[in-house]
Amino acid sequence: MEYKIAVVEGDGIGPEIIASAIAVMDAVGAKHNHKFEYDFVPAGGNSIDKYGVPLTDEALERCLRSDSVLLGAVGGPKWDTLPGHLRPERALLGIRKELGLFANIRPAKLNPVLKSACPLKDEIASRGFDMVIVRELTGGMYYGERGRRQGKGGEEAFDTECYSEAEIERIARVAFDIAAKRSKRVISVDKANVLESSRLWREVVHRAAKDYPEIAVSDMLVDNAAMQLIKNPAQFDVVVTSNMFGDILSDEASQITGSIGLLPSASLGEGTRGMYEPIHGSAPDIAGKDLANPIATILSVAMMFRLSFNLDKEADEIEAAVDAVLNAGYRTRDILDNATEPLGCKAMTQKIIEYLTRPLQRT
Ligand code: NAD
Repeated sequence: MEYKIAVVEGDGIGPEIIASAIAVMDAVGAKHNHKFEYDFVPAGGNSIDKYGVPLTDEALERCLRSDSVLLGAVGGPKWDTLPGHLRPERALLGIRKELGLFANIRPAKLNPVLKSACPLKDEIASRGFDMVIVRELTGGMYYGERGRRQGKGGEEAFDTECYSEAEIERIARVAFDIAAKRSKRVISVDKANVLESSRLWREVVHRAAKDYPEIAVSDMLVDNAAMQLIKNPAQFDVVVTSNMFGDILSDEASQITGSIGLLPSASLGEGTRGMYEPIHGSAPDIAGKDLANPIATILSVAMMFRLSFNLDKEADEIEAAVDAVLNAGYRTRDILDNATEPLGCKAMTQKIIEYLTRPLQRT
């Protein structure tokens, strides 16, 4: 098969981690006879330097013509003092909006061999965990009616949480589809004991679930979910929730894995096209030093293969190669334990490719 990927290298460590991702995609392409065509699209600080804006119309158009977008990271101190509409991060908002990306998918996985990086108690970290948080990205309080007015106690401010049945149903279906390829369990997180919008959320999630008889759906209140993530993260598999609850819970989940250098993410819209990126930023402090951990970006490629290209086997192989390399004790500096010597970004990438292509070499 042939796939056209819009590649945003971005700034800071962006070009280094994207080079790793491309090396992995090329290795998968050679192994499975796929052709990946890369269209390098300027966005972020480098686009500001060259064109005066974080995202040109032409760059956006090229993203829209791709099968999916792979992004490194944008931003850095050089552009920090620019006004909001000219900041590098605007590029991401522009791509998300134009591509209609309403679902944010964030896996949070702790391989027990990395338990020393996890801030939780040893007995909890030893069990490891492997969850995916599906966050609604374009509705709820962040987009609802807001304002200020005069009230009895002086000036008042309000933000409105509003969800339509259609918005809830489409995000629930994304979660069910993901769960169908995993353990077939979904926990829907809401605050239905207080919020009317959550009561509708719950009704619609369960109504939509009738089309997925193989998926077991349960509900959890958001305050309990925040506690359970710390107490027993291994109980979670797929979690679906609103924009604001997802914002908070996905950050909590990423922190308990210990390193942001390991975590990928995806944003999806109605069709198969998505945007895939590591959850970390451009790490200007280590840029150009071959110190970045490439795993979050490499795992973002695995997500793109599975969620946008339906290449499940290839995605499984990438994830298995990453696990095998970690299980064999190889580490980058950010996940180093005392016993090991760190690998640089390039050497780590080569190790992963070595494990990925191993079965082919034996035949
Ligand atoms: P950051 O994620 O870039 O870095 C935080 C810390 O984690 C740093 O110490 C960094 O060295 C380390 N780190 C990050 N990724 C790593 C990796 N792959 N391997 C090893 N260590 C890694 O967050 P920040 O420092 O707050 O932000 C730096 C810049 O990135 C800012 O300009 C910010 O606006 C931007 N940013 C961009 C995105 C994005 O493009 N999606 C997301 C967050 C921040």
